[in-house]
Amino acid sequence: MTNEELWQAVLAQIQLNISSANFATWFKSTKISSQKEGKILVSVPNSFAKEWLENKYNKIIFKILHSLDEDLKGIEYTIGKNELKVYKRQTATLSEADQLEFPEFKINQETNLNPRYTFENFIVGPFNELPHAAALAVAKSPGLVYNPLFIYGGVGLGKTHVLQAIGNEVIKNFPDKKVRYMSSEKFTAGVISSIKNQEMEAFKLKFRAIDVLIIDDVQFLAGKEKTQEEFFHTFNALYEKNKQIILSSDRPPKAIPALAERLRSRFEGGMIADISIPDLETRIAILKQKSAERRTEFPDEIYNYIASNIQRNIRELEGALNRLIIFQKLNNRTPDIENVKTLLKNIILSPAKIATPKKIIQAVAEFYDLKERDLMAASRKKEIVTPRQIAMFLLRTELKSSYPFIGRRLGGKDHTTAIYAYEKIVKDLEKNKKLEEEIDLIKQRVFSS
Ligand code: ADP
Ligand code: MG
Repeated sequence: MTNEELWQAVLAQIQLNISSANFATWFKSTKISSQKEGKILVSVPNSFAKEWLENKYNKIIFKILHSLDEDLKGIEYTIGKNELKVYKRQTATLSEADQLEFPEFKINQETNLNPRYTFENFIVGPFNELPHAAALAVAKSPGLVYNPLFIYGGVGLGKTHVLQAIGNEVIKNFPDKKVRYMSSEKFTAGVISSIKNQEMEAFKLKFRAIDVLIIDDVQFLAGKEKTQEEFFHTFNALYEKNKQIILSSDRPPKAIPALAERLRSRFEGGMIADISIPDLETRIAILKQKSAERRTEFPDEIYNYIASNIQRNIRELEGALNRLIIFQKLNNRTPDIENVKTLLKNIILSPAKIATPKKIIQAVAEFYDLKERDLMAASRKKEIVTPRQIAMFLLRTELKSSYPFIGRRLGGKDHTTAIYAYEKIVKDLEKNKKLEEEIDLIKQRVFSS
C-alpha cells in the first residue's frame, strides 16, 4: 500500500465513527508524509489538529494502522510541510481513558478474531456460494461435517472474511468452544520462537486444547519444513479428536509448491471450495451493502461505474467506495460521475491493472516457485516446460504480443516454439480443469499485485 492508500484506509474507518464536523475539523488536510523503520509520520495542518490527534485519536489511528501493518511501532505527528520538524508523540495531557474506543477494532485477544467479519455482512453470489454454504455448515456443527474445510481464491475476495465469520459464529453458538484464528506466518513465527526458547511442549499443548483452529494463507507454509512438520502433528492431534480445522490459501493444495506430501493429502482430505470472481451484479450488490453499512448511498450510475471498472478484488471495491465517502464528508455533497472518475483514476488506471510482459513472467515464476531465469533456460523438464508455455500463452492472450516477441522474451526461443506453446495450452485447457484454475489464479495475480 502506498502512504496515500494507507491513510485513506485509516480515514475511511475513522469517519465511520465520528461526526462529520469532527472529521472535517481534525482530519482535513492530514496525510502520511513518510514511513521509516516502523514509524509513521503524519502531517497535520496546525497545532490544534496535532494536539487532538495525539491525545484523542492516536490510539485508534495506531490500532487501525497496526491492523494493516503489523510491523508498525509508532506514530508521530508533524505540522504542515515542515517535515523535518518531528514532534515527540504522547505528551499526554488527556489520559489514556480519553482515547476513543471503536468497538469494531476490538480484536478478541483470546481468539484473534475481528468481530467485524460476520456472515450477516458477507454477500453471497454465484462466485462464492459453495464456500459460503460449506462455511455455514461448519459453523453449525464444527468438527462434524467437512474437516478440514479448505477455502482458496485470489487476493481480496473474502477468504479472511469467511474464515473469521465461521469463528465468530461458532463463538456465538457455542460459547464454550475454544476458537483460534491465526495467519500461517504467525504460526511459523510461533514454531520458530518456541524452538529457540525450548518451549515446544508448551506450544503444542496450547494448540491441542483448541476446538476450532483457523489458519489463514497456508500457501506461506511452502518450503518451511520444520513448521510443516509441527503443523502436521497439530493437525493430526486435533483431527483425531474431531476438532475442526479451517484453512485458506491463494491456490488449491496441489498447487502449493514445496508442501510435504503428507500435509497436502491432509489438506485434501476434507472439503475444498474456491472463491472465484464476483459477477457484475454481485459487485454492485456489494457496493450497495457497504454503502448502507456506512449509512450513505450513491446513484446507480456511480455504482455501475465502479463495479464495471474494478472486477477482481472486493477490497479494491471497498477502497474505491471509501474515497467517495471521504469526498462526501469533506465536501458535504455527493460526487458526480466526473468527480468519481478523477477520484478513482489512480485505482482504476493504476499500473497494477495493466499487465506487462515482466509482470506475467514474474507471476508465472512465483506461482510455480521457479526463478524467472528457469523459464528462460533451455530446460525440457516438465516442471519448467509447462510454466513456460503458460507464460507464452498469457503473453499472447493478455497482451496480444507477437509470436517472435514472445519467443525472444522467453530466453530467445524461436517463434514456432511460441506458436506451439500457445496452441498446446489452448488444447489442454479444453480438458484440463486444473490448468484452467491455475491460469485464472495467475491472471488474478498479474492484475492485482
Ligand atoms: P482475502 O482474505 O481473500 O484477501 P478479505 O477477506 O480480506 O480477502 O476481503 C477483502 C475485503 O472485502 C474485506 O474488507 C471483506 O470484508 C470484503 N469482502 C470480501 N468478500 C466479501 C463478501 N462476499 N461480502 C462482503 N464483503 C466482502
Ligand atoms: Mg486474507
